[in-house]
Amino acid sequence: MHDLILIGGGLANGLIAWRLKMMRPALRILLVERESTLGGNHTWSFYQEDLTPAQHAWLAPLVVRHWPAYEVRFPSHRRMLRTACYSIDSARFHAVLMKDLADCVMLGAEVGEMDAGGAVINGWRHEARAVIDGRGHESSAHMRHAWQKFLGWEVELEEAHGQAMPIIMDATVAQRDGYRFVYTLPFDERRILIEDTYYSTSPALDAAALRLNIEAYAASRGWRIARMLREETGVLPIALSGDIERYWDDKPDVLPRSGLRAGLFHATTGYSLLFAARLADEIAALDDLHADKVYQRIRHFSAHQWRGQRFLRALNRMLFFAGEPAQRYRVLQRFYTLPQQLIERFYAARLTRLDQLRILSGKPPVPVAAALRAICDLRKETSSKPS
Ligand SMILES: Cc1cc2nc3c(=O)[nH]c(=O)nc-3n(C[C@H](O)[C@H](O)[C@H](O)COP(=O)(O)OP(=O)(O)OC[C@H]3O[C@@H](n4cnc5c(N)ncnc54)[C@H](O)[C@@H]3O)c2cc1C
Repeated sequence: MHDLILIGGGLANGLIAWRLKMMRPALRILLVERESTLGGNHTWSFYQEDLTPAQHAWLAPLVVRHWPAYEVRFPSHRRMLRTACYSIDSARFHAVLMKDLADCVMLGAEVGEMDAGGAVINGWRHEARAVIDGRGHESSAHMRHAWQKFLGWEVELEEAHGQAMPIIMDATVAQRDGYRFVYTLPFDERRILIEDTYYSTSPALDAAALRLNIEAYAASRGWRIARMLREETGVLPIALSGDIERYWDDKPDVLPRSGLRAGLFHATTGYSLLFAARLADEIAALDDLHADKVYQRIRHFSAHQWRGQRFLRALNRMLFFAGEPAQRYRVLQRFYTLPQQLIERFYAARLTRLDQLRILSGKPPVPVAAALRAICDLRKETSSKPS
């Protein structure tokens, strides 16, 4: 009998298992992953203000690189923001978690039926006081999404790239398939991650075309690629509207979920690391890991953060529906003229009412009537009741 079985060894469940091991080492945990490694094939980035100092401290062993600032580039301006940013990669995530959790991890596992009291793993039923389903994003009739999709190459260049800080949006590139920008993370003098990224209403990703774009972007910066070290792709949900209570009610069983499967992602960036760290702390603070308690705690956390991001979903609708796709970059271009601390609160999903007013004040970068229609389009947005 386990205290907790976590199905899916990705970011959210990995952090829950690791945090519980730190805080309550006597617990009998089982972290179950179908692939041969934990954490997939990602680079997860996050910002200083996304996490508390205590959260930064416990995540520190996972961080492969951090920078004191980052840059954005738009047709109208460039800006350096003095906000520290951090990156974790899947290889470090796997190595650190395996060192600390090895006897609690099952890799290459085939998971069958699961419920709040256990799961069938490799043909055998394992019982547990609670089970958490963290198998990644699942589409739902109760959620309306657009997409942030990208393909990235981590490359080694023939010479030094000369870029000291990440450029998290270079939107000076040709605009197509919605809002397009290139994201670059300089890991060392010659090693850099280059990601061609789109905010699109379609999840379709033409990998061959994006690879050519990366080569063209590198050439435009005067970089010659010596070696491609790793490729990553992502199609992340960007929330437009939804009913979080119905999303949870839709499941036949009271099975706790985590990560994207619990709707725990930043509505506009699609990022989930900040919520994964916060949720791991919430679970570690529970004095009783009984299935009902875990379910109620996670559901409350998920619904609370979902309601807190209502304004971000309205912004997303303005981004996706108020202007021509080729003009979407103007929304971000204007956003990046706002004060740095407001931008930090935006990424941390902690905007104040004053921030919201500030974002909406002034001449909108898209047609006014269309912006209002998009913001007021509350399909499925109003029926969520507090839990
Ligand atoms: C390439 C990429 C880059 C990203 N970059 C960032 C970033 O910079 N910052 C950020 O905050 N967010 C980022 N995200 C978004 C988000 O943080 C990630 O998608 C994150 O990994 C989601 O966490 P999760 O635990 O919900 O799902 P995942 O990490 O996807 O974990 C789900 C796990 O469940 C496993 N699984 C699925 N089905 C089964 C099964 N039947 N049995 C057993 N295991 C199963 C999968 O193999 C996987 O390991 C990125 C996403 C991608 C794809």
